This record gives sequence, structure tokens and C-alpha cells, in this order.
Amino acid sequence: MNEPFRRALGVIRTLKQHGYEAYFVGGSVRDYLLNRPIDDVDIATSALPDEVMAIFPKTIPVGLKHGTVVVLHDGVPYEVTTFRTEGTYENYRRPESVTFVRSLYQDLERRDFTMNAIAMDDTGQFIDPFDGQAAINKRIIRTVGKAKDRFLEDALRMMRAIRFVSQLGFQLEEGTKQAVIEHASLLTYISVERKTVEFEKLMAGPFASSAFSLLVETKLFAYLPGLAEKREELQQLSNYEWSALTSTAERWSFLLYLLNIEHASSFLRQWKLSNRLTKDVQAILHALSIVRSFADWTKETLYAVGAAAALSAEAIRSLVNGEKGEENVQALRQQLDSLPIQTRQDLAVTGKDIIDWYGGKGGPWVEETLKKLEQAVLAGIVENEKERMKAWLKWNQTHEKNC
Ligand code: ATP
Ligand code: MG
Repeated sequence: MNEPFRRALGVIRTLKQHGYEAYFVGGSVRDYLLNRPIDDVDIATSALPDEVMAIFPKTIPVGLKHGTVVVLHDGVPYEVTTFRTEGTYENYRRPESVTFVRSLYQDLERRDFTMNAIAMDDTGQFIDPFDGQAAINKRIIRTVGKAKDRFLEDALRMMRAIRFVSQLGFQLEEGTKQAVIEHASLLTYISVERKTVEFEKLMAGPFASSAFSLLVETKLFAYLPGLAEKREELQQLSNYEWSALTSTAERWSFLLYLLNIEHASSFLRQWKLSNRLTKDVQAILHALSIVRSFADWTKETLYAVGAAAALSAEAIRSLVNGEKGEENVQALRQQLDSLPIQTRQDLAVTGKDIIDWYGGKGGPWVEETLKKLEQAVLAGIVENEKERMKAWLKWNQTHEKNC
């Protein structure tokens, strides 16, 4: 057992001392068996949510409806979820309601893939009724029970299967894959929000290129927002090393760019991305269009698009051109560092200074003056220092009048 589990042992032992069963479950157990870094250690227990809250002094009822209570233990939050089955599935979706049960077996049985249906007790023993460890050793993704039935219950599982391909580099077990091919259209019933979560994880995985191939092969892509008509382009995506991209905004931008999406904002709205993320993607796409039309960065284009968007656009441009992204991004970072100013905030003069110097009322002339200063500072004509800029403005005005 390694550190993240050892730290959580107190939670399991306390539950056991009170007469309940408790185990580590889900993604953390799978990742531990795979020697991957473990993010969240999740715990499943026979105790009902009220019982969990009665035992631990610090709890947060985050999802009582689904049986989840967060327990704070040594300052670390742990999701403790009551063993459960899911109510009747309707419309190929996970139900709103769940039924609490007292048996671990039933809880593992409702889980999606055998590799995700392994429990580990406080002594490090595995409880693995569906041969999840064998699947992990063979590097295959197989549903718990009959794939068709599991996808009819919750169609999102088909997409989860492919995002796990992207994260783990596993193969879909043949029966599981056939069932995805046969039932791809059920994805229509799934909410956009749930699809977006899985799709973002899919784009971020080290094996994203294989996952894109599978999206096309299984035709799942046809039931994703804005992608139905993009078969050819999606197939192209599998030719790229997605792991060269380092943020969610970069990955969406790369996707939109390679898919030739004309109306970025309506495409992103279909996926219900946050306003923040939408803005970031638009900034990167704008930066990308600028650097591609100018063929390279200039001080002015860098300043105009801003550091963050420029660096992301450079990573994408390098990927598209088959160049070494890291080197290009590093070189661009140096170029950015050598700019006298990177944003308006860096300018040593503000609009208020300008009004103080010249008197009168604010108005468009203040913005024009600031722009003039920015350009002069960027071009290295004047230093970014208040008095010098003031003197330069004066000189510039007399000079302009004399011309
Ligand atoms: P990650 O490391 O990306 O979080 P994970 O396996 O922990 O992967 P989660 O979405 O956090 O994935 O889900 C936690 C666990 O809950 C899974 O391991 C699986 O056992 C179960 N699970 C999640 N979603 C479903 C689903 N749609 N159907 C059945 N079981 C599910
Ligand atoms: Mg998880």
C-alpha cells in the first residue's frame, strides 16, 4: 500500500471499529495496480451517510442523494460513499436516485469496467470478483457484465471506455467494442455536460490519438456536439501527438483549428463550456490566425495577443507544422521576456497621469496617447519610465506640430 492509501487508513479503520465495512475502491485502486499517480482515494462503506456523519467530527454532505459524504481526515478530504446500486435506469441514463445496499459485491457490480470494480481492504488485500486485475494485466477495458446491457443502462459508459483508452493506452475488449459500435446512437440521450467531462479527459490523455481513431471507428463521434459532419477531419486528429499540448484551452483550440470550425463561439456553446474557457480558446485561435498570417511573431503581434494566448498558439503551430513545440515555446518565452512591456498594466504611465499632465477632460485622446506610448516603448524609442515618457510626449507633440 502506498502513501495516499496509508494516510487514509484512519478513515477505514474508524468505520470498521464502528462495525461497518469499508474499502478503497474505483480509480485509485486501478491506478495503484498500474503504478500510476493516484489523485483521489475514494472509500466505499456499508455505513449509511447519516451513520458516517455521526462517526466523524468533520464531514461535508456533498452528495447525500448519491450517498457521498466528504470526511476530513488529517486535513485531507475523502469521499466516502455508501455501497449502492443505481435505481431503475431510464432513457439510457444514470438514474437520479440510488438504492443503498449493505454488500460490497453489489456495489462493485454496478461499476462500469472490471478494472474499476476492484476493492482493496485496509490490509492491502484485493477484492476482485470480476477479474479486474486480469484485465489490467492484459491491458483491456471490459464491462462488468454484458456490454450491451451496461450501455443500455447508461450510454455515457461508451464514451468513458474510449477516454480510458486515451488515458491508459488499453485496448477495448472485442465484445465491449462491438457493443459500442452497435449502440453508439444511444449517446444522443446523454447530457452535454457529462459528454464534455469525458471528452476533455479524452483530449488530455497520452493516447488521445488512439482514442480519436476509435471515436471514428465506433461512430460515437456522430453523436457529439458539432462533430457529426467532421469524420475526415477527426481521423486526421489521430496523427498528432496531443500530449504536446498542456492546457484544456489549448486542446480545444487545436481541435477547432484542425476541424476547420468556422464559428468557434457557437461550437463551444454547444459543448456548454464556461465563458472563461470560451474566451481563452477564442484568444488562442485569434493568436494562431495572426501568427500564421504574419508567418512569425513580431513584438507588436506578441503584445497585441498577450503572452498566454501567444504561447498556446505557438505550441499548436509547432504541432501542426511537425516542429519541436517545447523548443519553440521556450524561444518564444524568451522573446516575450525581452519585451519592454507585455501588457498595458506594465506601462509606467496611466490614463490618470496623462490627464494630470495635460489637464482637461478624459476622452478618446487619452487612449490614443496611451497607444502612442505603448508603441514607442515596444519599439524601444522611449524607456518605460514616467518622466522620460512625459518628456518624449512633449517633444513628440512639438515635433508633430513643426512637421
Ligand atoms: P479518474 O481517475 O479519471 O477520476 P475514475 O475511474 O476514478 O477515473 P470517476 O469518473 O472518478 O472515474 O469514477 C469513479 C468510479 O465510479 C469509477 O472507477 C467506476 O467504478 C465508477 N463509475 C463512474 N462512472 C460510472 C458510470 N457511468 N457507470 C458505472 N460506474 C461508474
Ligand atoms: Mg476519480
